[in-house]
Amino acid sequence: MSLDGRNVTVLGAGVGGLAAAIALARRGARVTVLEQSDAIREVGAGIQISPNGAVVLRALGLTEPLEHIATQAEAVELRDGYSDDLVLRLDMARLRPQQTFYFVHRADLIGLLAKGAQDAGVGVKMLHKVTHVDLSDPAPRLTLENGPQIECDLLIAADGLHSPTRIALGGKGTPFFTGQVAWRAVIPNTQFGAIAEVHLGTGKHLVSYPLRNGQWRNIVAIEERARWVEESWTLREDPMQMRLAFGDFSPRVKSWLDQIDDVWCWGLHRRPVASVWGKTTTEGAAFILGDAAHSTLPFLAQGACMALEDAWVLADLLEQNSDDIALSHYAQTRVARCQRIVAGADSNARAYHLSGLPRWIGHFGLRTMNRFAPELAMRRFDWLYDHDVTRRA
Ligand SMILES: Cc1cc2nc3c(=O)[nH]c(=O)nc-3n(C[C@H](O)[C@H](O)[C@H](O)COP(=O)(O)OP(=O)(O)OC[C@H]3O[C@@H](n4cnc5c(N)ncnc54)[C@H](O)[C@@H]3O)c2cc1C
Repeated sequence: MSLDGRNVTVLGAGVGGLAAAIALARRGARVTVLEQSDAIREVGAGIQISPNGAVVLRALGLTEPLEHIATQAEAVELRDGYSDDLVLRLDMARLRPQQTFYFVHRADLIGLLAKGAQDAGVGVKMLHKVTHVDLSDPAPRLTLENGPQIECDLLIAADGLHSPTRIALGGKGTPFFTGQVAWRAVIPNTQFGAIAEVHLGTGKHLVSYPLRNGQWRNIVAIEERARWVEESWTLREDPMQMRLAFGDFSPRVKSWLDQIDDVWCWGLHRRPVASVWGKTTTEGAAFILGDAAHSTLPFLAQGACMALEDAWVLADLLEQNSDDIALSHYAQTRVARCQRIVAGADSNARAYHLSGLPRWIGHFGLRTMNRFAPELAMRRFDWLYDHDVTRRA
């Protein structure tokens, strides 16, 4: 079915929602984005966009502005958090030609997508919080917090972890605590090189990479915790808590933590990958994408990249098929890939946080691969990074 002139409502102005809005508007749809916040902004710090996400930004025509705001990664290094010794280096020079891996400030990425949406003729309505989603016939209906209802021809919901649309699709259960908390901060950078460093410890790890032309350094520190008691899902913490938690790490890591004045702590929650990704009604259809469909631990740096993939795949399918066929192809195409990525991130949580003999054996294996078969280390990610949803079969 053609998208030309079709009215589309996108719920959520995060990475997934804005990317979908651009992709649909570029295919002729008349797109309106509804966002609950008063302004398009992103809290938090940096985000890594691996080649599978970068190809979508390229297909959306955003590579040139992206190159102005992002840093191209040279390598990702795994290090022993206590000694600072190198365990494994993934050299980005070993990526395939045309593949790029970026570090970007979240606010800059959202700004880039918001500008792209505006240029594509997308209308964005802020302070539009949806409190209820009704997916019964004839067409999807949204109830806004301030009262009125909106009937949608086509609803694309990129409404995040707590997605009311996923609940309307029958998605059961509230997000569960993964046993991991994350502190995020940005400090001035004094190091050369566009390298993401992952410092591994027992029950914890810390990721750091440069942002904004190397002026800033992103810090994400993760620690296992048995419970997350706060009702809200973010918590402002005394930086001293973070310094204490990583007090046994190397002097270099501790020098970064000493510079942090202001830090927030997130309890990392997720839900299983959705089994139902949308619904058609007699006069409309609704689809979910991004964290609404597959929230994940960030240990493969893929949440936003998956949202970008979803956005492109869905727009493509909707342009070429009836809503029913688009829905069945969408779920078929996305479920297995997203499950594999989410499982990979879970498995990294275990591998990064090992203790005792398993840790020694794991690090020995990675060091050996680093020394004798560094190419192999990179090729282990081919299934992830070589996946180009913008390339037609
Ligand atoms: C510590 C950490 C590090 C990460 N690092 C990376 C990384 O390096 N690379 C990567 O790819 N991913 C990373 N991620 C994951 C990534 O941030 C998310 O997966 C991604 O932002 C999801 O995008 P989204 O558009 O699906 O949802 P969101 O970004 O959550 O956007 C949802 C939007 O919908 C709006 N909304 C929600 N409900 C309503 C409503 N009822 N009415 C109106 N509006 C609504 C929200 O306000 C929000 O703007 C990381 C995550 C964490 C926690």
